[in-house]
Amino acid sequence: MKNQHLLVTGGAGFIGSHLVDALLAAGHQVTVLDDLSVGKVQNFAHQVDRPHFKFEQGSMLDVPLVARLVGGVDAVYHLAAVVGVKYVVEDPLHGMCVNVRGTENLLEAAARRRCKVVLASSSETYGKSTQVPFREEDNTVLGSTAAPRWSYALSKLLDEHLAFAYFRQEQLPTAAVRYFNAYGPRLDPRGYGSVIAKFIGQALDGKPLTVYGDGEQTRSFTFVGDIVRGTIAAMDTPESVGLAFNIGNPREITINTLAQTIRDAVDPRLDIVHIPYAQAYGAAFEDSPRRLPDVSRAEKILSFTAEVPLEEGLPQTILWFKEHSQ
Ligand code: UDP
Repeated sequence: MKNQHLLVTGGAGFIGSHLVDALLAAGHQVTVLDDLSVGKVQNFAHQVDRPHFKFEQGSMLDVPLVARLVGGVDAVYHLAAVVGVKYVVEDPLHGMCVNVRGTENLLEAAARRRCKVVLASSSETYGKSTQVPFREEDNTVLGSTAAPRWSYALSKLLDEHLAFAYFRQEQLPTAAVRYFNAYGPRLDPRGYGSVIAKFIGQALDGKPLTVYGDGEQTRSFTFVGDIVRGTIAAMDTPESVGLAFNIGNPREITINTLAQTIRDAVDPRLDIVHIPYAQAYGAAFEDSPRRLPDVSRAEKILSFTAEVPLEEGLPQTILWFKEHSQ
């Protein structure tokens, strides 16, 4: 599908800005809506002079603005959200409000126009399920409301429910992409607290790398280029509607191994220290022990497979941090 006008909400963010680069390179016209709470002008500064690029600073909670922007496009990538457990633990009210009300605003506007919406969701939606690898139709296991952490997963699940309800009841074409621990250049250490950004930042500062818990928890880190390809495939594949897709690299790695790999790549003399969860996140924090995607649905329906191994993606990310650390 060429020469479409696309809205990317959250297009100034880490993943969003890479998505914008790919869409412009493919010949589309792109409008970005971002409130710059986490997103940064530097992430799209190289695109501002292009005639097919437009930036609007604004909030997903601004109903007339969202309606106006959606009214002028052919399809929407909805990535604007308060992202990441750290942020949501710090301010659950804001997180839930932006993530749920903002998505509602978007879907309502899109339903009037019947334009396809691809919603950015998260592997966090599987919660603390131990039934790995995670398949999209599996049960979700979330903790109690005493632990604010789960409000992030819940907000994303509610977003998915909303999107699929609009599909079934309002014939709005929607699909959801569940990202598995995205990383790569432009990852913001203050942005959403990703462990990779944190470890690289610590190592470049010559500080010890802080592993939480025993470090044997695993994640399936996915390079941002793969994340973007999977997201575009969900938009471009008509059969994606009404479905959620795991967009992830099916290789898992422990946080201990990740810390050692980053330490060895930056400065092998640095220490790795273990910090109890309670000290890192406060009381009532529960971590997901393993995060491994079953990628068969994305492979079958979207013809998508993650291609960039950590051995390739991590050096690119470290290099970017070296070049951009002040
Ligand atoms: N983590 C860690 N040290 C840090 C930050 C995070 O050991 O300084 C751990 C965290 O407890 C989790 C994993 O790294 O087990 C991934 O955390 P992140 O916040 O990147 O993403 P999550 O997958 O938990 O959403």
